[in-house]
Amino acid sequence: MKAPRARKRLGQHFLHDPAVIAKILAAIDVRRDDNVVEIGGGTGALTRPLLDRLEKLAVIELDPRLARTLEASAGGGKLTVHCADALEFDFGRLADATRPLRIVGNLPYNVSTPLLFHFLRFRAQIRDMHLMLQKEVVTRMTARPGGKEYGRLTVMLSAWTEIEACFDIGPGAFKPAPRVRSTFVRIRPRLEPKFAIEDESRFAALVAKLFSMRRKTLGRILKGERTAAEIEALGLDPRARPETLAPGDFARLASGNG
Ligand code: SAH
Repeated sequence: MKAPRARKRLGQHFLHDPAVIAKILAAIDVRRDDNVVEIGGGTGALTRPLLDRLEKLAVIELDPRLARTLEASAGGGKLTVHCADALEFDFGRLADATRPLRIVGNLPYNVSTPLLFHFLRFRAQIRDMHLMLQKEVVTRMTARPGGKEYGRLTVMLSAWTEIEACFDIGPGAFKPAPRVRSTFVRIRPRLEPKFAIEDESRFAALVAKLFSMRRKTLGRILKGERTAAEIEALGLDPRARPETLAPGDFARLASGNG
């Protein structure tokens, strides 16, 4: 397919290095009957080899021009193209009870963080995700407490998923080349959260709130909700900043009997 002009706003950086594409396919390792959905099919660099290996494939592509071309190029009725915004897509409708979803994508980097939060909502229906992400996002996803990379994304993913960085990829593997390095990652939702979470929405709200005021101390942020003595009873220091807490500490702080 002749490469159309890339639309920067849509984070279009098309893979063109055959060795990198082969490495990605090896990491995903699909079986014919896997239930795969690709995010951002683009010009089909991953779509075509995936189709060769699968009985069926769903693709979500926001750019109508690319969605039309993908649909026209793929034969055999094996491919379903959804011209839609992945951020608003109901992934639940693609999952079936016996075959949880495998999500694959060289993601548009400008939406990768909100997309990861969106995927978390469907975690019970997802078997795994293989994603190309900006290296810096992967650093945030896997950060340890104490630094500026550690944040809401780290804590939420740590509660619900296992993350494995597979390999790094330089800008030269894409056209046009992005300004940043990329990392290919494997993310597996956990059946049970890594630590006890009494109320999911309270936990999520507290994590968001604490990191929105990450320069303040726990005592100040939670004023009116938790006394210093209550915070201390959980083994935490009211003078500590949110970024020093382990992921499980947020869950304990959010629970009713803390
Ligand atoms: N997988 C292809 C293209 C990657 S570029 C390859 O590796 O070559 C990212 C793709 O995501 C582009 O095709 C872009 O149009 C599409 N895209 C951007 N934002 C999107 C969104 N919100 N939902 C679905 N697709 C999106």
